Amino acid sequence: MSGQAERKLIRAAAVIDARGIEAAPGAVLLEGRRVIAAGSPSDIGTHEEAVVIEEPSAVILPAMVNAHCHLDLSRLEPRPFPGRFESWLEGIAATRAAQEREGVLRADCDLGIELSLAGGVAFVGDIAGAGKLEPLEALRSGPLGGVSFIEFFGLGTRQQDAIARMGALLGSVPDHDRGVGLGVSPHAPYSCGAELYEAAMDTGLPLATHLAESLEEEQVLRSEDGPFRELADNLGAWNEGVVMPGVHPVDALAECMDRRSIMLVHLNYIEDDHVDLLVRSGACVAYCPRASDYFGHPHGGRPDHQYGRMFQAGLTVALGTDSRTCLDTPDRIGVLDEMRHLFVRDGADPAMLLEMATRHGARALGLDESLVTFEPGPVGGVLAVDLMGRPGPDPLQSVLAQRNAPRWIIPPDATGL
Ligand SMILES: [Zn+2]
Repeated sequence: MSGQAERKLIRAAAVIDARGIEAAPGAVLLEGRRVIAAGSPSDIGTHEEAVVIEEPSAVILPAMVNAHCHLDLSRLEPRPFPGRFESWLEGIAATRAAQEREGVLRADCDLGIELSLAGGVAFVGDIAGAGKLEPLEALRSGPLGGVSFIEFFGLGTRQQDAIARMGALLGSVPDHDRGVGLGVSPHAPYSCGAELYEAAMDTGLPLATHLAESLEEEQVLRSEDGPFRELADNLGAWNEGVVMPGVHPVDALAECMDRRSIMLVHLNYIEDDHVDLLVRSGACVAYCPRASDYFGHPHGGRPDHQYGRMFQAGLTVALGTDSRTCLDTPDRIGVLDEMRHLFVRDGADPAMLLEMATRHGARALGLDESLVTFEPGPVGGVLAVDLMGRPGPDPLQSVLAQRNAPRWIIPPDATGL
């Protein structure tokens, strides 16, 4: 960027990031989209040449990372869980049917991008769930950065078709363009066979998969029966070539994880020794707290989600929203609201939550972590959250105790990244 870019000096009630900047009051000096310095107003000093932006009742935060979303399902507004997963899937099937009409899938993705911006998100790990490229094209035409994971399904004898489609689709677009990388997502081990996982790993592209989301998943993997077996039968997805691993979902993917770093989405149900296994493998976790609660996970006498223990053990634990329909914020899709959910539900440490929503999210997507902090250099965006007249002794806690939408001081623009 040229040295001619306009300088801006933001002065605010507080400036906070996950790299140790916690200044109240605080200031950030920017040149174009580059941070020059951040800290207390006296550290930053006065800058005659800079345009001053006064935000005396707002907290300034870096742009956030939604490590797991389904922006192509954004037409489905929030609604109560119908009680049975199969009934819920009918809504998804109806959406997919509507998206067969020209332009609908793209419009749904564009809506998801708009709602993500409203949620304070600059980078996404988006699942392109129709197995098509429109979601990638939508991201590459807009301001968000991140990874578009093209999703594939295929069990038993259906794997070869899926692998052929994977090769054709992924070979037709550049791996990286306008701030958005291409990724691949075998949906889950109950809907994708081992060969499909192998083929996905062989692409060398970033990988994401849903894992250990439900007890039904564990049941079908261990013993080939239960509601998910019935579902697969009804969908015609089960066939004579299907081989289930006979073990827990995490153990089913242990060999894959040894070979490649994979983003593991959900992990609502793990066993005690799995945290060590995950740490050794270098896997990343995307936890979607509101979505897990929406479906009632974990249940069945199983322990609470282990995100805190995973974080303490040194795992990368990012936050995701999953799809809009699971959320309690119809006007936005963002991880600030996931932080708030964990703060209210568990009393989780605000500093840990900010780290999950920013640096860990960036790490999970293979992005430069400095894009989501205020260290000198390019920044993915700058957010303000109004304190609603209740500053309190700890500004980040105040932000998390509220439910208002964030707003952009420097909006995202990943096209140059
Ligand atoms: Zn998902």
